[in-house]
Amino acid sequence: GRDTSKAANSDELEDSIDYGKVTQLISTFMIKNQVNLLETLANQLAVELLTTFTECRNVTVEIRKPNAPIPVTFQDVAIKVTRGWHTAYIATGSNMGDREGNIENAILNLGADTKFKIIKTSNYYETKPYGEENQDNFLNGMVKLKTCCTPYELLDRLKVEERRAGRVKTSKWGPRPLDLDIIYYDDIIIDDENLTIPHGDMV
Ligand code: ADP
Ligand code: MG
Repeated sequence: GRDTSKAANSDELEDSIDYGKVTQLISTFMIKNQVNLLETLANQLAVELLTTFTECRNVTVEIRKPNAPIPVTFQDVAIKVTRGWHTAYIATGSNMGDREGNIENAILNLGADTKFKIIKTSNYYETKPYGEENQDNFLNGMVKLKTCCTPYELLDRLKVEERRAGRVKTSKWGPRPLDLDIIYYDDIIIDDENLTIPHGDMV
């Protein structure tokens, strides 16, 4: 799914998707990636297509397996996965070490990851700690980005950055070199034991 009006207006090949390249990518991908689950394959292929043809807002991949090992007569086994680009707002915070450096580094790392596009970053502001007041001030900011990660993949990816910045498990409100929280992810609402979006501090 993409906006075809640009190509329709200009009639330029660069403005449309080169379906020869799409076919090539799919065939290379299917040879290179040997996975067990069709679902994993479909998801990985969809993400590969999205990060290669970034003008695509979303991609639906349907994979059919004509001879799945099921001992009854059937037509085929198929799986259909849709993945797309989403807008997320990430709150950044640090109150240990090189606070600005820790945040900037994480933003650089995310920006270098094909699954992310940094759209906008805010200025930093100094905030007093709350919850546990006997610690240094925080430097806080906000990042607007595009991502083709799901909310849970995004959470895991942000935790990787927190660990890279040297974060270890501490108390809920304790000092940390880096805190990355998902404030918004499109207009999605999630509230389970691992993830709350919009983030608790915003509601
Ligand atoms: P806080 O950010 O509230 O100070 P932590 O950074 O220690 O707390 O995060 C604790 C847990 O909060 C994380 O392991 C994560 O699973 C959960 N969590 C729930 N919602 C979110 C969210 N929107 N963004 C980031 N983490 C979240
Ligand atoms: Mg957090």
